Amino acid sequence: MGSDILKLHAGVLVSMAGMQITKQSGRDMLVCRKCAAEFPEGRATKDGWHYECPECGEAEGIGDGLRRV
Ligand SMILES: [Zn+2]
Repeated sequence: MGSDILKLHAGVLVSMAGMQITKQSGRDMLVCRKCAAEFPEGRATKDGWHYECPECGEAEGIGDGLRRV
């Protein structure tokens, strides 16, 4: 019973990882409004959902602290 739950959980994690790879392969560049650093979108996020400047770590969110070049 417990192993069924674990298998289900693993499947969800795999599909989430696949989405992350798809998003991180994008070539979109972002620029930080705080430190003006430019970096690829994939560097600014670990989970494909929450975006944060990898240079200063203070600017968050596309269209908020970060903007597309
Ligand atoms: Zn920054």
